Amino acid sequence: MGELKRDIAALPPLPNREAISDALLVEESPLVESLIARARFPEEERCRIELLASDLVKAARDGRHEQGGIDSFLHEYGLSSEEGVLLLCLAEALLRIPDAATADRLIAGTIGSGDWARHLGHSDSLIVNASTWGLMLTGRVVDCGDARRSDPAGLVQRLIARSGEPVIRQALRQAMRILGRQFVLGQTIEEALANAEEEREQGYRFSFDMLGEAARTSEDAERYAQRYGEAIAAVAAWAGQPKGRTEEELQRRPGLSVKLSALHPRYQPSQEARLQDELVPRVFELAGAMREAWLPLTIDAEEADKLSLSLALTEPLFADPALAGWNGLGLAVQAYSKRALPLIDWLAGMARATGRRIPVRLVKGAYWDSEIECAQKQGLAGYPVFTRKTNTDVAYLAAARALLAQLDCFYPQFATHNAHTIAAVSTIAGNRPYEFQRLYGMGEALRPEALAKPCRIYAPVGGHRDLLAYLVRRLLENGANTSFVNRLADDHAPISAIIADPVEKAAVLPCPKKRTR
Ligand SMILES: Cc1cc2nc3c(=O)[nH]c(=O)nc-3n(C[C@H](O)[C@H](O)[C@H](O)COP(=O)(O)OP(=O)(O)OC[C@H]3O[C@@H](n4cnc5c(N)ncnc54)[C@H](O)[C@@H]3O)c2cc1C
Repeated sequence: MGELKRDIAALPPLPNREAISDALLVEESPLVESLIARARFPEEERCRIELLASDLVKAARDGRHEQGGIDSFLHEYGLSSEEGVLLLCLAEALLRIPDAATADRLIAGTIGSGDWARHLGHSDSLIVNASTWGLMLTGRVVDCGDARRSDPAGLVQRLIARSGEPVIRQALRQAMRILGRQFVLGQTIEEALANAEEEREQGYRFSFDMLGEAARTSEDAERYAQRYGEAIAAVAAWAGQPKGRTEEELQRRPGLSVKLSALHPRYQPSQEARLQDELVPRVFELAGAMREAWLPLTIDAEEADKLSLSLALTEPLFADPALAGWNGLGLAVQAYSKRALPLIDWLAGMARATGRRIPVRLVKGAYWDSEIECAQKQGLAGYPVFTRKTNTDVAYLAAARALLAQLDCFYPQFATHNAHTIAAVSTIAGNRPYEFQRLYGMGEALRPEALAKPCRIYAPVGGHRDLLAYLVRRLLENGANTSFVNRLADDHAPISAIIADPVEKAAVLPCPKKRTR
């Protein structure tokens, strides 16, 4: 790993990022109109997509009844239920509160006001019932019968008086552990690799994500980089010797996903010069080790205010001749961002300028709620993301077309659990090379691999403490009643409504209101 040296002097002229910056807060309606024109399907294709998506949903609903799983959990504890909101508060509380005593007080308050028993036996999923038991356990410690319903505050008092908060904390952590096992492939990379074996034999690819983000101290960041270094060695050994250093072989092999925010405690736009000096060499070292082991590395997409920074920091890596010949450095692109299409244009320019083919993982975006809140708090003149779910779906399809039309520049990777999106992508792509991706523990029933395309599982690895930020994002995005996973789990939602073509829906919707300050 130590052999590889950065070759900064040899950087070729690179495309500029002006068009990306200009699109940050553009008006939503005209942009969506242009995306509709790019994404629209001819009638015959639309019918094929509908059939395919409908088959996927039927199979998924049957599969869900057989398997249970997190999809049912997310539906059961969606944001429409009081307990779902409480669960989120709780996860956030555990995430933010450093001392056990304060965490205990919050836990007691949160648990005390939930009607957990209402969920028990309501779902046929093992995980829903197991988690409900875990959550109820706290109430069971001192089962006060009807008092629980009529006087939750009093119950909490009695609960604390009789058993003390540490007992509650233990019970709650147990519930979180049940959830953790569902979302996390292993607490260590060795455990994760052992657990991945069965699915690898079935033909799945993997991208391992060492959980952790937004490092607060240099020690955090160093620890994280070290965990990645160790993970690379373990994954390389697991993958074995590559059968030739070809691009096809590279795409077939397991990889890693990394968040830049975890690799430096000052990952902020104002610190760009310092990050060029301190963070870029760290990522370069990881990339060099991945190149050496012939494994792919994807840089996850994070909040909108970090996009320009992340591009400024990855640009020198794309361009560095020391990493040439290895087309394994990839980026996630968020379709909910108004900058997604200009970003894809820029990446195509980068691929051409540097003679690379860039793996692009197309996602819809996991930070929607916080993007909206952040723009409102800052009093911005608009939002950096779409404000309608349908518009994000349309943008995803337009972006998919852009990626698939430039296979000289991209290896497209479509990360989604939405049946319509999967069916539409596979119809646009035909026989062209690409892969699907899904999150470990989610979308299992959907089986895009049934469409005879490779599927990669994004597999978080880490302890339960590191899981919470990730868990909160999954609960927020899938608890929302517009989410595909949420609607899939609702047997009363008609299939035709779940798989309705977003392009046609967006075309007839009135314009979203302009943001006024
Ligand atoms: C393998 C994999 C890797 C991922 N990596 C990343 C990553 O690096 N960075 C990242 O940000 N996300 C990542 N995600 C998460 C992803 O962005 C989505 O949040 C998630 O997949 C849900 O999208 P969907 O197509 O599966 O479901 P759908 O239910 O079809 O879509 C839900 C999505 O729609 C969007 N949305 C919801 N409400 C609105 C609204 N009112 N207006 C506009 N848009 C709305 C949001 O993006 C939401 O997540 C990843 C997902 C997968 C499967």
